[in-house]
Amino acid sequence: MNLKPESAGQSQIDYSTIEIVDVHAHVHTGDRAKQSSERNEDAKRLFGTSKEAPKAIEEVYKDLNGVAVIFDVDSETTTGLKISNDEVAALANKSMGRLIGFGSVDPRKDDAALVEIERCKSLGMRGMKFQPITQRFSPSKKRYYPIWELCESLGLIVIFHTGITAIGNGSPGGRGLHLKYGRPFPALDDIAATFPDLTIIAAHPGWPWHEELVAIARHKGNVYVDLSGWSPRYFPETTVRYMNSMIPEKFLFGSDFPLFPPSRWLAEFGQLKLKDEVVTKVLRDNALKVLGLVQ
Ligand SMILES: [Zn+2]
Repeated sequence: MNLKPESAGQSQIDYSTIEIVDVHAHVHTGDRAKQSSERNEDAKRLFGTSKEAPKAIEEVYKDLNGVAVIFDVDSETTTGLKISNDEVAALANKSMGRLIGFGSVDPRKDDAALVEIERCKSLGMRGMKFQPITQRFSPSKKRYYPIWELCESLGLIVIFHTGITAIGNGSPGGRGLHLKYGRPFPALDDIAATFPDLTIIAAHPGWPWHEELVAIARHKGNVYVDLSGWSPRYFPETTVRYMNSMIPEKFLFGSDFPLFPPSRWLAEFGQLKLKDEVVTKVLRDNALKVLGLVQ
């Protein structure tokens, strides 16, 4: 399977010189981008000043001598908000390799989701992001298998949120969200077994199911774990042990930008007692291979 990006020829970034690959960064597009700029306008009216404009995501990763995988999440059937894969693709395309676009579809749109996945591929997307808790679906249901089959045949990587989520945290009923959809086992194990050529990234350490997740990553050659959305200071002990000994090639740096700043993640990760070669693998080498940026 050749995962080399179509735009590799025009890429200005020499991936052999970059220091980090963040496989998990969020961007807001479509209705969600509109919502956040409206909130900024409201704040301006209320306080007479606007917050200092945040650094553009491309600049954040340029300063870190890194690259990042970017995506939004389509949960239109549950939230009514539209996102735009075109905006993600445009950001990625103009970054000349600094930002790598992943698409998103709401799996509950069924056939329309399949059409959009094909379109994402044609836009140059390298993978697709799924958030089963906010998208309210169980990835192991047969209804969704055509999605995994299509991603496998198109060579698109799939990222699944796993574990608890910050969304709805502490609010009554957790805003109606069901954590069961974030449990990696058996869903991701079933999908990995059924679609062996599908590369699966389980996002976050997967707490409180981190041991199940490590077991899947150890057993299934096509499953990886990104360590985003979690302070490295509080990584579960099992996760750190398996990363540092048995399966260092299966863990990837991810921050969850902008929720978790990559610079803070990197500083905390640097405090863990890990072998030097493991650090390089997790921060860079594993992701370069998984994303097909190096042979
Ligand atoms: Zn995330």
